[in-house]
Amino acid sequence: MLLTKQLKIINRVSARAFSAKEVPQFTKDRYPVKRGNYNALNDHDISHFESILEKHRVLTGSDTDMYNIDWIKSVRGASNVVLKPKTTEEVSEIVKYCHAQKLAVVPQGGNTGLVGGSVPVFDEVVISMSLMNKIEHIDEYSGIVRCQSGVVLEKLESAVNEKGLIVPLDLGSKGTCHIGGNVSTNAGGLRLIRYGNLHGSVLGVEAVLANGKILNLMSNFKKDNTGYHLKHLFIGSEGSLGIVTKLALHCPTAPNAVNLAFVGLESFQQVLNAFLLAKKELGEILSSVEMIDEPSLMASTTMCNLQSPIQKYPFYMIFETSGSNDEHDKEKLNNFLKNAMEKSIIVDGVATNEPSKMRNIWESRERIAESLLKMGYCFKYDISLPLSNFYDIVGAVRERVGSHAKLVSGYGHVGDSNMHLNIVCEKFSQEIYKLVEPFVFEYTSKLKGSISAEHGIGFHKPKYLHYSKSPEAIELMKQIKNLMDPENILNPYKVLPLS
Ligand SMILES: Cc1cc2nc3c(=O)[nH]c(=O)nc-3n(C[C@H](O)[C@H](O)[C@H](O)COP(=O)(O)OP(=O)(O)OC[C@H]3O[C@@H](n4cnc5c(N)ncnc54)[C@H](O)[C@@H]3O)c2cc1C
Repeated sequence: MLLTKQLKIINRVSARAFSAKEVPQFTKDRYPVKRGNYNALNDHDISHFESILEKHRVLTGSDTDMYNIDWIKSVRGASNVVLKPKTTEEVSEIVKYCHAQKLAVVPQGGNTGLVGGSVPVFDEVVISMSLMNKIEHIDEYSGIVRCQSGVVLEKLESAVNEKGLIVPLDLGSKGTCHIGGNVSTNAGGLRLIRYGNLHGSVLGVEAVLANGKILNLMSNFKKDNTGYHLKHLFIGSEGSLGIVTKLALHCPTAPNAVNLAFVGLESFQQVLNAFLLAKKELGEILSSVEMIDEPSLMASTTMCNLQSPIQKYPFYMIFETSGSNDEHDKEKLNNFLKNAMEKSIIVDGVATNEPSKMRNIWESRERIAESLLKMGYCFKYDISLPLSNFYDIVGAVRERVGSHAKLVSGYGHVGDSNMHLNIVCEKFSQEIYKLVEPFVFEYTSKLKGSISAEHGIGFHKPKYLHYSKSPEAIELMKQIKNLMDPENILNPYKVLPLS
């Protein structure tokens, strides 16, 4: 019943190299947005930054190009300077100066964000966190890790693995994204179903505020009920309330046994049936439940030259288990697959615990985003939808865009009700843009879903925030922003609607 096809290992590629070939239009030309009342950068400012940082950590001219364009090439800023601090004190000095001079800033992590939040809209000063990459302490007893915010997720994962721990989140962009970027976007990823989101795992943060002051909210404990939990303001606020410079993260013990099943299904109803059965039969060892539709799998296998162990099904699912006893876990997984097949819920599948085979299966899921970009311009939506209507939006959008699109596909973290909807076209066009927006958000809102499940609001979605937040909530968010950043220098034009 279970196939065990040998698969080829393909090395991870840097997420930055994933981008499509074309350089996008400047954001200010593509979208109706007006520059705020900020000062423009001058030579004196550059000299001042060079007095805070060494000269080679102040990038200007063409060295700033890649920091001005986002990963999906949907936006392009025109910043003339990128600053690369190494310490919290340097970040503080930079922000203090920008605050005094009324210069807008944008904090940037690995620049893998998918909502246009990580790059300037106009000429904001980019503060790249890439050199703030020190892991300060890993406590193997408590599982608490303290590090600077610019540590690349995969590096953090390797470091904690050596101490028998794992980072409680895993994303396709792990080779490039920073843990500080993850915190600032409240990234979800492939194992949220098991480990919860970062509001639970992040125990403390240190952040530089808009006036340059350093706010120390670090904590070494899971339990700390000393008044308002201010750390939460920095988790998911996308650099609009402060620059996260350090964090304390709780890392769970690494599982002794990891098993993976990749299965084919005939309908979305069977996807739901399989999810329900998996929850019942795999219980506490279930660590990931992903759904991939046929166009998404076709894209990753053809565009990234991957092989899928099974083919030609309308839907595929990945079930991962993580536990402490391989025999027990394997038996549970095999029983689940046997029962699901007997009930005709799944029609085909493979199960494995061989690391290379598991990596190959994950690769076919994790490289979908890259493969869609290789096909052309990709409108990407990351929404939460009720499971009963989860996949309907793919059909609705397909019908709406018709032949304008090369492909409309849906995949995602079905275990968390999180759909990644993608519309791939030859190139960006206002016509297609208007066909899909606000349609996708209206559709989501009618089903009481969320217009951003995990990627955030960034530059692309502030005007649609009202589809998911009440006027009272938006007003309170604006008041908080105004209290913490009255000059609005931190990541302007992002997260909150302008008026
Ligand atoms: C292939 C691929 C797969 C992905 N899969 C997932 C997924 O499964 N789940 C998911 O949630 N996301 C996913 N993403 C989106 C993205 O990787 C995440 O949003 C990630 O958390 C961004 O981290 P980053 O370091 O690249 O941040 P950036 O893209 O650099 O920045 C993102 C936002 O955070 C702000 N920011 C960054 N660092 C800081 C800081 N230190 N202090 C304050 N603000 C800061 C920026 O200003 C920006 O608003 C994926 C992206 C790609 C390309």
